[in-house]
Amino acid sequence: MAGGGRSRYVGRFAPSPTGPLHLGSLVAALGSWLDARASGGQWLVRIEDVDAPRCRDGAAATILQQLAACGLHPDAPPWVQSRRATAYAHALDALRARGLAYACGCSRRAIEQALCAQGRAPEPGDELPYPGTCRDGLRGAPPRAWRLRLPDDATVQWSDRRIGVQREDVARRIGDFVLRRADAVWAYQLAVVVDDAAQGVTDVVRGEDLAASTARQMLLQRALGVPTPRYLHLPLVRDAQGRKLSKSEAAAPLRPGAPALRAALRHLGLRAQGAHGAEWLASAVAQWRAAWPSAAA
Ligand code: GLU
Repeated sequence: MAGGGRSRYVGRFAPSPTGPLHLGSLVAALGSWLDARASGGQWLVRIEDVDAPRCRDGAAATILQQLAACGLHPDAPPWVQSRRATAYAHALDALRARGLAYACGCSRRAIEQALCAQGRAPEPGDELPYPGTCRDGLRGAPPRAWRLRLPDDATVQWSDRRIGVQREDVARRIGDFVLRRADAVWAYQLAVVVDDAAQGVTDVVRGEDLAASTARQMLLQRALGVPTPRYLHLPLVRDAQGRKLSKSEAAAPLRPGAPALRAALRHLGLRAQGAHGAEWLASAVAQWRAAWPSAAA
């Protein structure tokens, strides 16, 4: 709950319900919970189910049960992104009205061809930087997706509380990125920025894989005129081959409760002190406050 006297802090854990939590996603949940508690702030849970084809029935309920079994209880009923389409449509309309979003008729194949024609042949599996083909109109192609029109200088510099100063030239690596996909699915980048703003999120604590999305999210926050939260990206949990664990690929199923909580605390460099989970969490809040003092600034 919001702490008396301290500056307002709102944090969140935003799982995609593509499967049950694994150790990596529990680490993200725990890190965001600890940061909120250490700051006397609010901790929210948001179910990020915009990409319906990737979601699994029952996964959201399972995730909430797993969190509860670890003693991580949100301070408000969880938001569910599939109920937020109107808000995303308003955001897109606002960007369109200011010429900051445009319709795109390009298929992946057309983007590859345009990049090759510019001598920028992508490697298989590469994220394709959008070459800007539809920036000035569709030239007869049917509209498929909606993209953000990047500003002339789309280099973003930001400072992460753990990994330090980051700098990214979004135009070069990604280009005008998608806000609404050709299959009518709202893009993660748009949904996350609209919802973080609507929920008043001041602090984002999540896995380091999402650091690569942060510059895009900051450009979108600026375009929409909403505040930028502070960011803390946590170390990823990797499997024996060094790959990030993934819910959808059925990473080692997590039996919620003491052993999982103990493993997640250890991954965050914290000790499980005390006789049971509630005591471990209380002592972990104090350890976290000492490790990350800037959260309560
Ligand atoms: N829904 C995203 C995921 O499960 C996380 C989004 C975020 O924390 O910004 O990977």
